[in-house]
Amino acid sequence: MTPKSYNIVVMGSGGVGKSALTIQFVRSVFVDEYDPTIEDSYRKTITVNGKPKILDVLDTAGQEEYNTLRPQYIRSGDGFLIVYSITDKQSFFDAKKLQSEILNTKDADPGTIPIYLVGNKKDLEDMRAVPTAEGQAFATESTIGFLEASAKTAEGVTEMFTELTNKIDEMSCKP
Ligand code: GDP
Ligand code: MG
Repeated sequence: MTPKSYNIVVMGSGGVGKSALTIQFVRSVFVDEYDPTIEDSYRKTITVNGKPKILDVLDTAGQEEYNTLRPQYIRSGDGFLIVYSITDKQSFFDAKKLQSEILNTKDADPGTIPIYLVGNKKDLEDMRAVPTAEGQAFATESTIGFLEASAKTAEGVTEMFTELTNKIDEMSCKP
């Protein structure tokens, strides 16, 4: 049986750690300096409950207000990781906007698209600007998943991808 494949799109404002999270997931290393203009996709196969799943992960770049490519990759995504940095309040506001943009582009009702909100840079507790409760509250009211992670320590990184694929399976009703 061919493994099921998943198109996962990693979104969020510049500098929040989209590339660092993606590369930590795919290669198990923390990259400190990654070209912020590079947009690339990566493939990794994981096994969940004995079942192989192929993840095609698009690490997006250039999340300016106006990005003509965005509707295209939103339409092609099966599931979305919306990343903000817990040290950057503005990136949290941007994450909220991106959530609405995904729903608008897919013409979908809240709670019907597999989305995880990810508060990255959890290792920088001293510089925290977004309380965990605030991230959780937004995720709950939007009926999306939520977790905090660190690309640096790898905490939460496997979970965010695994949980999202589980959510895709649940919501598409064809596990
Ligand atoms: P992107 O623009 O969203 O792709 O962000 P990058 O992945 O390029 O990361 C931007 C900067 O934040 C880089 O200097 C990374 O090293 C740093 N960074 C990313 N994730 C983390 C993290 O979890 N903890 C810490 N301390 N720094 C991080
Ligand atoms: Mg990047």
